[in-house]
Amino acid sequence: MHSRSFAVRARLGGRTAAHVAAPRGTLEMMSLPTTDTMPRTGPLVDTFGRAANDLRISVTDRCNFRCTYCMPAEGLAWLPKTELLTFEEMARLLGMFVGLGVRSLKVTGGEPTIRADLPRLVEMFRQVGPALDISITTNGLLLDTLAAPLAAAGIDRATVSCDSLLRHRFAEMTRRDALERVLMGLRAAEAAGLVPIKINTVVIGGTNDDEVTAFATWARETGYEVRFIEYMPLDAQRAWERDKVVPAATILEAIGKVYPLTSAAPDHEPATLYRFADGAPGTIGVIASVTEPFCDTCNRLRLTAEGQFRSCLFALDETDLRGPMRDGASDDELALLVRQAVWGKWAGHKINDIDFVQPARSMSMIGG
Ligand code: SAM
Ligand code: SF4
Repeated sequence: MHSRSFAVRARLGGRTAAHVAAPRGTLEMMSLPTTDTMPRTGPLVDTFGRAANDLRISVTDRCNFRCTYCMPAEGLAWLPKTELLTFEEMARLLGMFVGLGVRSLKVTGGEPTIRADLPRLVEMFRQVGPALDISITTNGLLLDTLAAPLAAAGIDRATVSCDSLLRHRFAEMTRRDALERVLMGLRAAEAAGLVPIKINTVVIGGTNDDEVTAFATWARETGYEVRFIEYMPLDAQRAWERDKVVPAATILEAIGKVYPLTSAAPDHEPATLYRFADGAPGTIGVIASVTEPFCDTCNRLRLTAEGQFRSCLFALDETDLRGPMRDGASDDELALLVRQAVWGKWAGHKINDIDFVQPARSMSMIGG
C-alpha cells in the first residue's frame, strides 16, 4: 500500500538532503531513464546492460586514522548514532539485496573495525547469506585482536590498506604511527585464515611512488596481492591534484623493470592482476580508476552507514532506504527503490571530463 509514496519520497529524500546536495544546476540537468521497460525480476540491471551483484556496506563513517588523501587531521562531522543503521536494519537490507542477486559483500567504512560488536553483525550477515563471499576492507589497526573473532563470525577474506612500508612515511600518510601494529594485524589475519590477503596501496606522486618496487618485493615474500590504487578526487579536503595521480601503467613499468610480470586471470574485483614471470608467490594488482576507468564492467552497489543507496562511487545522487524502512516499507518496496536507482545508473564517472563534479561525500563517508 505504501509503494508509490515511498518511492517518490525516498528518491526525493535522497536527492535533496543537504549533505548530499549536488552543486546548483546539476540535478536539474540529470534526467532519469523511464522505468517502463525496467525488469521487475531477475538480475539487478541498468540501461547499459550491466548487472550489479557486489555490495559494499559501510558500517560506520568514523575512523581511527586520518589518511591525508581521505580526511583532514581533525576528522569529519561524524553522524549521530541515531542516524546509523542498526545491525537489524543492515541485516534486513542485506537480505533484500541477496534477493536481488547480490553474491559478494564487502564490509567497509569509515573504519569498520571500530563499529562496536562488529563480529556479532558479521554473524548476522552470515546467517542472511550463507553462500555470500564476505570480505572486509580495513586499515588493519585492530586486526591483531579482531581477526580471529571476525573469521569465526563468517568473514572470508581481508583487504588491508597500507600505503608505506617505512614507519615515518606511514605515520605521515595516515597521521598515526601504527605501521608495526598493522603488520601485527596482518599476521593475525593470516593466522585466522582471512586469505588470500589483499593490500590496498594508494599511490601518490612525490609521496610514496618510490616504494612500488618495495611493495612488489613484499608481495613476493608474503604471497599477498598488493593492489595499487590511483589517487581519486574523493578526499574530504578537496586537495586532489591530477599531477599527483601516478598512472597504473607507470607503476607496472617500474615494477616490470625489476620483476617481469605476466597477466593473471581476473577475479570479480576491479583490479587488473599480474603474476611474477619467475613464478614467485604474490600478485600485483592495479586499480586504474582515473587513467583507465572500468565503468563499463562495474557491478558494484554501495550502502552508506546511514542507509543511503549509491549505484556509483562518484554518483551525485543517492536513494534513501533508511527513511522508507523506518516508515514501514516492505522488502518488495525497498527492492523496487533499488531497482529504480540501478536502472538510473549513469554510464560512468567523468573524472577526465571538463564537467566532472566531485561528489559531496568523500570516500570515508561513502564506504570505499
Ligand atoms: N578504513 C578502511 C581502509 O582504509 O581500508 C576502509 C575504508 S577506506 C575509505 C577504503 C579504501 O579507500 C582504502 O583502501 C583507502 O586507501 C581508499 N581511499 C581513500 N581515499 C582515497 C582516495 N582519495 N583515492 C583513492 N583511494 C582512496
Ligand atoms: Fe580512515 Fe580508511 Fe579514510 Fe584512512 S582511508 S582515513 S583508514 S577511512
